[in-house]
Amino acid sequence: MKQRTIKIILALIIILTLIAAAAGVYFIYFNGASTSKVNIYSEGRLVRSVDLSQNESYSFDVINSKGNKNTVTVKDGMISVSDADCPDKICVNTAGIKGDPHPIICVPNQLIISAEGAYSP
Ligand SMILES: [Zn+2]
Repeated sequence: MKQRTIKIILALIIILTLIAAAAGVYFIYFNGASTSKVNIYSEGRLVRSVDLSQNESYSFDVINSKGNKNTVTVKDGMISVSDADCPDKICVNTAGIKGDPHPIICVPNQLIISAEGAYSP
């Protein structure tokens, strides 16, 4: 009977720890997503940081070591891939992000655009 009580208490401690960990992860994730800073990674390296709160409009090219290119456009506080030479064009068809928790990823060109704190390779 006593051992069973200990097992229940241990199970409760484990469950509470998991809930606390999940809440912590969610808090960091959510907090990071509310930032206006977006990082651009090419082949796992940070190549540029963009502050979307500046409300500027511009485009720039990110070219990886294999010469593959993604054209990144910042407009109306949003960042998106406007053009790319990858075969699938998933990155171009991904909606622009504005501090969203999900990143824009170009798998063939190994490009990741993500809000600061939301994700980093
Ligand atoms: Zn792509």
